[in-house]
This record gives sequence, structure tokens and C-alpha cells, in this order.
Amino acid sequence: MPSTVSLTPKGADRIYGGHPWIYRSDLRDVRAKGGDIVRVVDPRGRTLGEALYSDRSQIALRMLTRGETSATADWWRARLEQAVRFRESLGIDATAYRLVHGEADLLPSLIVDRYGDVIVVQTLSQGIDRRMAELTQMLVDLVAPSGILARNDPRVRQLEGLEQKVELLHGHVPERVPVVENGIRYDVDVWKGQKTGLFLDQRENREAAARYGSGRALDAFSYNGGFALTLARRCERVIAIDVSEDATSHIRHNALLNGAANVEARTANVFDELRELDRAGERFDIVVLDPPAFAKTKAALPKAVSGYKEINLRALKLLKPGGFLVSCTCSYHVDEAMFVDIVHEAALDAGVPVTVVEKRMQGRDHPVLLGVPETCYLKCLVLRRLV
Ligand code: SAH
Repeated sequence: MPSTVSLTPKGADRIYGGHPWIYRSDLRDVRAKGGDIVRVVDPRGRTLGEALYSDRSQIALRMLTRGETSATADWWRARLEQAVRFRESLGIDATAYRLVHGEADLLPSLIVDRYGDVIVVQTLSQGIDRRMAELTQMLVDLVAPSGILARNDPRVRQLEGLEQKVELLHGHVPERVPVVENGIRYDVDVWKGQKTGLFLDQRENREAAARYGSGRALDAFSYNGGFALTLARRCERVIAIDVSEDATSHIRHNALLNGAANVEARTANVFDELRELDRAGERFDIVVLDPPAFAKTKAALPKAVSGYKEINLRALKLLKPGGFLVSCTCSYHVDEAMFVDIVHEAALDAGVPVTVVEKRMQGRDHPVLLGVPETCYLKCLVLRRLV
């Protein structure tokens, strides 16, 4: 029988509103240890469901089940299976994609990505961490991977009081894992690459961007060249920029792997390089902006907004009339309406009329759970400079 945690009326209202997170200030009475699965009750003692309890995080509870349902081993297995089957049904044109997207699969704080035969997991709470041996066995039974790696090095684990470490959980995981996405080959460093190796959430936006590709392309904040290589098949020449030497050496390697001799990787700060390109009179038919999250917290928002505005303004100036700007933000704190406003201001400052051709988000393997705005983080606008 799990121990019980009772909530304040405000906490109970959040659960009734469909949100899976309860903050510590909304707990009334706790008799549980960090990592336990607990029964959550409202102020009148009514059972709301079962949750993972954390004794460190501000997010004290993460709901697993609702009502009287128990989070048994069968329940975990069924949730994992449903998540995996959903991805298999999507007809994704890639051997790398997300199998489990945490809250949006009702498996809060668990990330599972597939890279070919290899699985990479991230466990972002005490409760999931404690169950990882059991979950690893379930993934082995379900997907039969050749290896499972835990990329438990994200900084958010500190908020949970969890150690940051990278650890092999099963089988063998090579230093580089070959995958194919939208017909492009990548050798992925799942041990040390950013996120779990690739930015899997941008797959469909890379494909969308390529539909507008022609002539000269610029991929700013390129990482290992995802947008650049996808555009290279449609464009005469692509310049890919990243500030990290490691990233640009991956772009060069992946360009060779795909015979994309028209991709040039430059190690530079995008803010400086956009200015340099303008000064040199260079112009492009398509520009991609995919910066890291400038606003990681609400407090960072004003500075982030001016950063987004600056790169969008500079990119619009570099575009030929009729050219396309694919502009992304992965800051959860910058919502779509705010992002459209930022780009609008950039267009006004650039003195050019701009149309929105597409409004996009993260790929279908990273779905958004309604009522949980935190699961909707990636915004991608396809814009066209008219004159
Ligand atoms: N477009 C990529 C993902 C980009 S992630 C893809 O499709 O996979 C953001 C990248 O921006 C990181 O690789 C990081 O190294 C780089 N970066 C961060 N700040 C930068 C800056 N000021 N100038 C250039 N690159 C930067």
C-alpha cells in the first residue's frame, strides 16, 4: 500500500485541471520518502491518483495515474508499450526518434530516444531514477535494443538532488551510432553529444525547410548540420555556422558521409557572423535560425527577446526579396504569439514586409499534452520576405 500525500485545495484544483505537477507549497501532509510512489488525496480525503514523490524538487509530485488506478508493473509496461507503438504508427522517415516524451506519454520525467538499435534514456526525477532497472528490462523486452545508455548528465537533475552521470545500462553502445533521417546519414555521438545526441524534435522542420530551399542557404546555430545537410540537396551552396569547434567538425564529417560537397562549416558566433556577412554584401535565398533557448527562466526573458529580435533582424536583411526565413525558438517562456511579435518588430526595423507561410512546432514524436504548456516548447515559423 503506497503512503499518502494530501493536498491543499489549490493543489487538488491543479490535478482536476489536468496538470501532472504539484509544487511543494501545495502539499498539506506528507508521509513518504523521496522516490516513492504515493497515493494523492484531496483535502476531503478523496483519492486523486498515484504520483512520484520527490523530497528535493520544487515539483514535489508528478502524477502517474488518476482515480483508483495503481501504478503496477503492468501499468508501466502498458504505458511504455503504448508510447512505442504510437511512434511506430507515425511512419517516421528516420531511424532516430523519440519513443517516450515524459509528461506527454503520461510517464513524467522519463525520456527515451531511439538511435537505430540503441536506446538513450534520461531520468529526471528521483522516482524514475529508482525504477530504472525495472524500466530497462521492460525496454529490452519491448524493443530488443543492442544497448541502452543513460544520458543522465543534464543540469536539471541537480534540482532533484540527483547525481549527473552517463552510464551504460544494457548491452553495448558504440562511440558513434549511425542513423538516417530524411534520407541523410549521421554518425551520432550519443555519449557526449548535445541532448541525447541529436535534436530529434527538429526532424520535421528540417524536412519542411528543405521544401523552400534553393540557391544559397545559411544555417545558423547548425550543431551537427541537420538543417544544412537537408537543405544541401536543394541548394547550390550552404553555409553552416556554429560556435562550437566540436559541432563544426561533426558538420564536416556528416557532409563527407553524405557526399555534400556544397556545405561549408564555419566556427563562429552567429551574432558576429551575421553582421560580417551583411558587411560583405552576401545575400541568401533561405536562412535558418535555430538558436539555443535564450530564455531558460522567466527572469531572462527581456534579454532573450532582444537576442531573438537581433538575429531575426539581421537574417531578414541578409535575405533576397522572395527569400525564406525559417526561424525557431525552443524557449518555453517565449510563446508563439510573443515570437510572432518579435519577428514582426524585426521586420519593421528591417523595413520589409514579411508573410508567415507556416507555423510549426516540435515533431509528432514529441507531442504536446493539453493543459501542460511546458510540453509545448519549440516554435518554428517559415517566413517569406516579400520585397
Ligand atoms: N539546428 C541544430 C540544433 C541547434 S542547437 C539542429 O537542427 O540539430 C543550438 C546550437 O547553437 C548549438 O550547437 C550551440 O553550439 C550553438 N550556439 C550557441 N550559441 C551560439 C552562438 N552565439 N553562435 C553560434 N552558435 C551558437
